[in-house]
Amino acid sequence: MAKVKTDRRDFVKYSTLGIFAAVLGGGIALSPYPLRAETRLRPPGAVDEKEFLGLCIKCGQCLQVCPYHSIELADFATGHGIGTPYIDATVRGCYACTAVPCVLACPSGALDHACEKPEDIHMGIAVLEFPDTCIAMSNTPVPKGYNDRMYAFTGAQRNVTELETQLLDKMEGYEGKQCTLCADVCPIPNPLSAIAMVPDANGGNRPEIYDGCIGCGACEEVCPTSIPSIVVKPRVSYEEQYENRV
Ligand code: SF4
Ligand code: SF4
Ligand code: SF4
Repeated sequence: MAKVKTDRRDFVKYSTLGIFAAVLGGGIALSPYPLRAETRLRPPGAVDEKEFLGLCIKCGQCLQVCPYHSIELADFATGHGIGTPYIDATVRGCYACTAVPCVLACPSGALDHACEKPEDIHMGIAVLEFPDTCIAMSNTPVPKGYNDRMYAFTGAQRNVTELETQLLDKMEGYEGKQCTLCADVCPIPNPLSAIAMVPDANGGNRPEIYDGCIGCGACEEVCPTSIPSIVVKPRVSYEEQYENRV
């Protein structure tokens, strides 16, 4: 059942749309968040950030074909590159569609057509950024209402797709159980190449990331902690993040 969006992030986003329009009307092109583009998660196939900003014609074709409503266009509140597509994985990650339709729809080369399948996607890398809050590590059961936010997001769409309904169904039934949400949602064909729950030294379990991770952000979306314990670092490779660990 559809629920009303009440998330503060949504309030900030929608309340700033009016400001965005006013600023554009006044011909002001500067953003107060010039550095945030460096850390934004781009859709699959996005070329190097500088090249991407030059190539993207802000047509919105990629977001129109996305069956999960994963892609948003940057507004004044979300950094420079206004009108360029990005993914806020705290709201909705990418679900690595088989034929990567967002890339196919891109007419400008900003999303590289060499990205033809989930394994070709390299958006970033997942990291258990806040292990202290991961409820699997403390053997804390998945709380009631853990998936309310997903229902709210889907319910707010005008054209809910079958794939979104299937995703909601898949995320049912975890309440009161040991949390394995991030590992179970991983959408790539061989999720065990990207993430697995492993025993932790303190008697709980924790998600471990492997080099198959494509940085889609699905795990970040479904993590039930108030600030996701697992996050995606955009444009960071497995090697950069993990290879030189001590
Ligand atoms: S791969 Fe699919 S879910 Fe991911 S951004 Fe592209 S169209 Fe959306
Ligand atoms: S581990 Fe997370 S970011 Fe990596 S592929 Fe799986 S769901 Fe996507
Ligand atoms: S979704 Fe993953 S990272 Fe988040 S609490 Fe559950 S096991 Fe921990």
